[in-house]
Amino acid sequence: MSSVPVDVDLALVGGGGAASLVLAALDRHGVRDLRIAVVDPVRRRGQDRTWAFWGHPGNDLDDLLSVSWSQVEVITPGVHRALQLAPLRYAMLRSGPIYDRAAEAERRLGVRRIAAAAEALDDDGARVLVRTGADRPVLRARWVLDSRPRPPRRAGRTNWLQHFRGWWLTADRAVFDPGRAVLMDFRTPQPARGVSFGYVLPVDSRYALVEYTEFSPNLLTGAAYDAALAGYRDLLGLDPTRLTVTEVENGVIPMTDGPFAARPSPRVVRLGTAGGATRPSTGFTFSAMHRQAEQVARAVAAGRPPVPSSAYPRRHRWMDAVALRALDRGLVDGPEFFVRLFDRNPAQRVLRFLDGQTTVAEDLAVMRSTRLRPMLTATVADGAGRLRDRLAPSQRPNWAAPPPVVGADRPAADGGREWRLPRPPVA
Ligand SMILES: Cc1cc2nc3c(=O)[nH]c(=O)nc-3n(C[C@H](O)[C@H](O)[C@H](O)COP(=O)(O)OP(=O)(O)OC[C@H]3O[C@@H](n4cnc5c(N)ncnc54)[C@H](O)[C@@H]3O)c2cc1C
Repeated sequence: MSSVPVDVDLALVGGGGAASLVLAALDRHGVRDLRIAVVDPVRRRGQDRTWAFWGHPGNDLDDLLSVSWSQVEVITPGVHRALQLAPLRYAMLRSGPIYDRAAEAERRLGVRRIAAAAEALDDDGARVLVRTGADRPVLRARWVLDSRPRPPRRAGRTNWLQHFRGWWLTADRAVFDPGRAVLMDFRTPQPARGVSFGYVLPVDSRYALVEYTEFSPNLLTGAAYDAALAGYRDLLGLDPTRLTVTEVENGVIPMTDGPFAARPSPRVVRLGTAGGATRPSTGFTFSAMHRQAEQVARAVAAGRPPVPSSAYPRRHRWMDAVALRALDRGLVDGPEFFVRLFDRNPAQRVLRFLDGQTTVAEDLAVMRSTRLRPMLTATVADGAGRLRDRLAPSQRPNWAAPPPVVGADRPAADGGREWRLPRPPVA
């Protein structure tokens, strides 16, 4: 490689979910004649995760979806709530089609690929030098979109994880209802600290993704995820001798009120989880990444800097910090907290709220649907925590989401890249 850095207009450092959506959006907006590079040691291909998200139908994702549902269920012991989502829909998108679309976009945009890990971004306010490994820079970019996974700038006051294992199940006869997805099923045994739930995303009557998820501070062992999933499968009344686990999906997503710096320096913009696109109270990320990709592409097409608006309003991040504290300190019961939101608000309001799209009046309605006293206690304690942080900058140790557990009692061997263990039937 030449020792002179290559000049580009835009460098995407990290080429995963957020970057793929940006490439697709730049292509869709007809951006041409822009010198673009992607720096990532891994070329993302095929199925390495499944995105579930809600939104309005009728956009660029429609023809990539595996399936979508206008009805979902939220289940507690004794009550099955069927929520009508129209005009929204809940949708499933496997990663393969997004990566394929990004690869097509790369070809049309003439993107230069650098298969290396970026180690440093030196921003002098006019250009950013992108360094990989050795101290020699490989790129000199006018702008950098950086989506490398990273912890928040400092540990949050509450640091939880959304951690999960899912089985793609194929049944030998019709056992799933493809007309509705299960969004959250709280009949799973609840952890001492945290919230657990199962969910079911049926593609058709014989094929579905069934997951066990926890919102809690610590990961389980591989064997514990398997046991929890088997328990949930039994709870659904599925006969293991008639099922084959065709794929396994593991993941860990940060749920923290620690701050993610979206603009660490003048010409570096962080996107994806690293840029704060993960909603702290739920771990949902996809819709914010998609929204921000569209904003970036519009801006670039109009000759403006590629800077999206913040993933969520500041007041929502504050509300999430209070909710996380209330859940973590046991001030509220987890399943009851989430179920009350759906019981006391139209489903679309809750979903738009979780996407950061509600008005202040709607936010107040959402707040009113939670239990007042514990939430007030959490609000006061959160305020005191913020004040302490301001007076004496945080003494909390740094915190980063660990890589997912991929096998029984074994941490991820591949540095956290998810999965994939073809498994024998769950007999
Ligand atoms: C299994 C799984 C399922 C998920 N499901 C959902 C869901 O259903 N709904 C939802 O809303 N969210 C979901 N999420 C959360 C979120 O949407 C995804 O994590 C999403 O992929 C985040 O995109 P990203 O670009 O921030 O990170 P990634 O997609 O992880 O991309 C980061 C990229 O950075 C690269 N990289 C790392 N280090 C370097 C380096 N030094 N230099 C250059 N590149 C580097 C990596 O190779 C990777 O390609 C899920 C997450 C996981 C892990």
